[in-house]
Amino acid sequence: MEINGTGIGQGVAVGPVVRMAEQLPPPVDRPSHLDPELEGERARASLSVVAAELANRGAKAGGAAKDVLEAQAMMAEDPSLVDEVTKLLATGKTAERAVYESFAAYRDLLLGMGGYMAERATDLDDISQRVIANLLKLPAPGVPNPGHAFVLVARDLAPADTATLDLDQVLGLVTIDGGPTSHTAILAREKSIVAIVGATDAATLADGDTVVVDAANDVVISAPTPEQVADAEARIAERAALEAAPVTPGALADGTPVPLLANLGSADGAAEAVKLGAEGVGLFRTEFLFLDADTAPSVREQQEHYTRLLSAFPGRKVVVRVLDAGADKPLSFLNDAHEENPALGLRGIRALRHSEIILREQLTALAMADATTDADLWVMAPMIATVEETEYFTKLADELGIKVAGVMVETPSAALIADRVLRVAAFASIGTNDLTQYTMAADRLLGTVANLQSPWHPAVLKLIADVGAAGAELGKPVGICGEAAADPLLAVVLVGLGATSLSMSPSALADVRASLARYTPDDAKALARAAMAAEGAADAKQAAQAVATEITTARAAAS
Ligand code: PEP
Ligand code: MG
Repeated sequence: MEINGTGIGQGVAVGPVVRMAEQLPPPVDRPSHLDPELEGERARASLSVVAAELANRGAKAGGAAKDVLEAQAMMAEDPSLVDEVTKLLATGKTAERAVYESFAAYRDLLLGMGGYMAERATDLDDISQRVIANLLKLPAPGVPNPGHAFVLVARDLAPADTATLDLDQVLGLVTIDGGPTSHTAILAREKSIVAIVGATDAATLADGDTVVVDAANDVVISAPTPEQVADAEARIAERAALEAAPVTPGALADGTPVPLLANLGSADGAAEAVKLGAEGVGLFRTEFLFLDADTAPSVREQQEHYTRLLSAFPGRKVVVRVLDAGADKPLSFLNDAHEENPALGLRGIRALRHSEIILREQLTALAMADATTDADLWVMAPMIATVEETEYFTKLADELGIKVAGVMVETPSAALIADRVLRVAAFASIGTNDLTQYTMAADRLLGTVANLQSPWHPAVLKLIADVGAAGAELGKPVGICGEAAADPLLAVVLVGLGATSLSMSPSALADVRASLARYTPDDAKALARAAMAAEGAADAKQAAQAVATEITTARAAAS
């Protein structure tokens, strides 16, 4: 049986299923025998034990996991949550029940907000379960330890669990809930765990079932045939060889360079990106630094972080995006008004123009960091839709000392007039995540329209081709920095459409590097033509795959 979900990365795993224990049931709502004061002491003690435990695990895990776990530890001792617990205790509830109800109310509030905030709801459930388990003196819910390697199947994983998975034991991970932007997905990608999220039918899998987890093809195969297992094992061996291969600059088969760059959300990821062969940074998402901030970050604070980032890439290109606040990434100091339709509202450059002082300070901090480091800093604006916005941004950037100012192409409008936009901007970087969402009119966070969100759709490819052609005509670089660049076959198509560099999550670099090396510039154009001529996304992928197979077979026969 095949179970569909969203694959994270390109990996494959085979092994027996071990399911994670389901949640503790909600504590019964009965009157407490204890004084509210004593219940309060119990609750506060458990909350701080859990907060300390989470912070401790964060310190051990390091990287992005550390930030996630520290944020969770802070949530466990959030004063408004503790107040809520105290209020409920005063009504005669037990500590377990008061913790349960307070966290559930907060979780519902986040779910109601949708997008990024809703995906943090799992974090709160996890803390609540840990605190209740501590109060009941039960073991904390968590990853099982069966004593052999296994594929972990869970409803969703808490960040604490994903961050501390023992990768010698956990061959792969399948979650029933969770979307491609959930913390599980973010951490799985960072740790290169073979994972499929949002696999609803994985609820039917039982302990001991053998499964193939095929992230590249978004599928879990249960009860695989011997051929399917052999195929998976061959691919696992192939990937191990690939990972051990020397890290070389990105290039096509004839040596045409295609620089491979990293998408980063913090300077903390820089060293790992360099180790995996990133030739620079193609997208630094500055808003990730400030998601929890209530006030705009100071110039000094920003300058320090940017200096740290730029120092990690001496002599290399580093493309920093100014704050892309709004929609699923609201920043309270930039987007405070409620909007019915935030993806179409005041986000990206529109929000920054509304609060120009924040943009000015950010550009100033970037120019200051640039002046004291040796990286080649490029700065770009998100959500550009008009030539006028392009002029506004590049002029301001120039005034504040930025040497190279460009734009992201994320709206169909910017793609359709790329020739005019690129006359003003020094470069374009195509954000295929948003370009796909806006071209297909399909919310990128919504599972129900996921079938419409493929960057393989010929409508999206056509827009990318327009930008590529405009870049070639004017001699301006056109990078790709959306998730599409991390798909090894699509990466070749994108180069065929005119992309001059590709930027991706560092864990995807090895696969894309190997794929590019198999094709010449003419091959890439042939793949692109086949994909563009298709009727839909699935056909486009198939058509490109067919041309790719033809090319590699003919070449193998000739050698
Ligand atoms: C994109 O839209 O493709 C992009 C790279 O920006 P983000 O995913 O941060 O919106
Ligand atoms: Mg975007």
